[in-house]
Amino acid sequence: MAIDVNKITETIYWTDITEGCKIEASGNSKLFNTGDWRVDTPVFIAEKCTQCLLCVPVCPDSSIPVNNYKRADFDFAHCKGCGICAKVCPSGAIEMKMGER
Ligand code: SF4
Ligand code: SF4
Repeated sequence: MAIDVNKITETIYWTDITEGCKIEASGNSKLFNTGDWRVDTPVFIAEKCTQCLLCVPVCPDSSIPVNNYKRADFDFAHCKGCGICAKVCPSGAIEMKMGER
């Protein structure tokens, strides 16, 4: 996809650029909301959940937060909608819906 240079509003001076444009630090999921890429969306049905926590370790994006040994709703800033959590849930407490929430 071509970048429309007329829409770039941020001014970056040469003094802000690293020597040789080296990338000096790794990326961090706190800085990148990879949930923007999500195509489908898991829906948590709390009434059906038995808190077995099977869904938590299988999530490749660590998008199922746990507080006091209980899972909470999804972290949609990072969930990519792969559906693995819905597949492993033995209680039908996660349903996949088409589309990004
Ligand atoms: S796998 Fe299903 S029942 Fe178990 S904690 Fe996750 S949502 Fe709840
Ligand atoms: S849909 Fe995939 S990325 Fe999102 S919470 Fe479930 S396992 Fe994690």
